[in-house]
Amino acid sequence: MSLLTVTSVTPLTPRMVRMTFTGDGLSELGTWPDQQLKLLFPQPGRSAFVSSSEDVSVWYQAYLAVPEAERPWMRQFTVRSLVDGVLTVDFVLHGDNGPASRWAAGARPGDVIGRFGPSRDYARPLGVADLLIFAGDETALPAIASLLELLPSSQRFLAFVEVADPLEQQDVPGVRWVHRSAGEDLVSIVSAVEVPSSVWVWLGGEASAVRALRRHFVGLGVSKKDIEFTGYWRRSLTQDDAPTADDLAEAQERIAALSE
Ligand SMILES: Cc1cc2nc3c(=O)[nH]c(=O)nc-3n(C[C@H](O)[C@H](O)[C@H](O)COP(=O)(O)OP(=O)(O)OC[C@H]3O[C@@H](n4cnc5c(N)ncnc54)[C@H](O)[C@@H]3O)c2cc1C
Repeated sequence: MSLLTVTSVTPLTPRMVRMTFTGDGLSELGTWPDQQLKLLFPQPGRSAFVSSSEDVSVWYQAYLAVPEAERPWMRQFTVRSLVDGVLTVDFVLHGDNGPASRWAAGARPGDVIGRFGPSRDYARPLGVADLLIFAGDETALPAIASLLELLPSSQRFLAFVEVADPLEQQDVPGVRWVHRSAGEDLVSIVSAVEVPSSVWVWLGGEASAVRALRRHFVGLGVSKKDIEFTGYWRRSLTQDDAPTADDLAEAQERIAALSE
């Protein structure tokens, strides 16, 4: 792992802030679709640094060895872009009830957090199909926006992003915005889409919505291997809370889909 220093903080919408970072090792990282990384947010008066090891098991043991009262909070995020050693991450400001959101709301240039990843071991290639469908909420917008930028102009796609209200929309061409303020929800809107036989689906966002949509597409006959899905956050649970029975079932499904 290494440390990241904030170099700029730019509000994108009332509930989304973009930050750029510099740090050791960023220039040597490659780029691939949907790069996920772990960010470490320091406890007050403590460091975010744990161990310089890039070996996940060594590093994680070192992380667990830090006494809980001093251990940085670890949360998952998406590389919005990584260009010339400058990392950009977009943070949802969902309130001060989580350490990542709280940190992002008050971050200033010069602030330091930790980084582990992204790792090519978790690279997930885009699917090949006549139609690609992307669906998620604001936490998945960084991933969806960066994935759409990679698509050739001839690729047919549908992209749905659920946000609080029209003020949360960003300039991402081709997105159908789903507004909670208008009583819309991602699952209903996406479930109404007509799906051709050649389709590949990417889902990310609140875990129960992701699960409902995955069930919907499986029910339509879409092969499980053609559905990439990740629950990004869980209502009323933090990323530190133990997995629920649904989370464990989801993990099993993911493993089973890999072997299909
Ligand atoms: C692979 C992956 C990539 C991700 N990429 C991004 C990204 O690029 N940008 C980004 O902002 N997030 C991203 N997320 C989601 C982010 O990790 C979670 O939202 C995380 O819970 C935020 O941590 P926290 O410390 O703010 O809140 P936590 O301590 O985890 O949770 C505290 C409380 O806040 C609630 N909560 C958490 N997230 C939200 C939310 N979005 N809206 C409303 N309530 C919420 C929880 O239910 C809980 O009650 C990603 C998640 C994954 C798994």
